[in-house]
Amino acid sequence: MAARSYETLKGEVFALPNNLEGKVRREALLAHEAKESGAWMTASPWTADTKMSDWVFGAASRARLCIRMDEVPEGTKCQVKGCGRTMDTLGQHAFTCPGLREFRSMQAAQHQRRLRGTTRAAGEGIITLPDEPVVQTWMQPKAGREVTVEKRADVGIIPKNGQNAGTIVLIDLTLEATSTAAKESGNTGAAAQCGESKKDQLYERDYERKPAPAPPALVKGFGQETGGPLGDFAKKFLRYCAEQTPPQGLPGHDPVGRRYGRILEHFSVFLQRHRALVQQQYIHQCCLPAPPEAEPNDAAAPEEGEEAPEE
Ligand SMILES: [Zn+2]
Repeated sequence: MAARSYETLKGEVFALPNNLEGKVRREALLAHEAKESGAWMTASPWTADTKMSDWVFGAASRARLCIRMDEVPEGTKCQVKGCGRTMDTLGQHAFTCPGLREFRSMQAAQHQRRLRGTTRAAGEGIITLPDEPVVQTWMQPKAGREVTVEKRADVGIIPKNGQNAGTIVLIDLTLEATSTAAKESGNTGAAAQCGESKKDQLYERDYERKPAPAPPALVKGFGQETGGPLGDFAKKFLRYCAEQTPPQGLPGHDPVGRRYGRILEHFSVFLQRHRALVQQQYIHQCCLPAPPEAEPNDAAAPEEGEEAPEE
């Protein structure tokens, strides 16, 4: 695939209509210009971390190519209690429906587990702190800043090599919707980058390092977009993890670049699995009619205004 010029991409992104389909295509175009967004396509189907079921692979391909969902008939009303909005065949309602909120929040926990798995795989090169380290243990609020809430980082690590060797790096994960990138600047990865900067600024405003003998510490935002692109710190950090991860196989057969690629695949597959899970729930909860009441002799519960879809 030849890389398109920046102007061509910009032109394509802005020429899209301002309706739902245009929005979905804009998001797909913005996401896909980042190499890491499509990493799931080369992921190994043989390892537990990157295995994708047919459904997951189908959902991932559908999202990338902006293909409509056959399972959702045009104009169907959402069956979730209290929602009732019109569902769209591109599956976007899945990401805003109140009935699927819990599945969306599950994503943050999976993201954290993914990063933790990556730092652990780096073996001796990175010490991973247990649990979610409390920021105030290593950093103190700046003068005049009242910070009463206990802030917890998602993952805390101590790199053994490189420029931050020996520093306690507290990582605050952030998942940003790729759709907001269009609003930020219209550039690929803008939302992930902006998410990282916001986190960094927040901590810089409120916290500073504790004086010696406390060990040096810093807090960093790690940004990823729902469409796949990673922020600059995220990429740099994952590259470091790849350098520290012991190679597999025969000497010379697993260079850093390949290890880095594998880590990107893990992060990419995690997003696709999650998207597929949410869309599966979308079809089950929003699209299929609710099961009939168990008690048949209950005076026939009147149907809600909307007709339920067939099947
Ligand atoms: Zn809904």
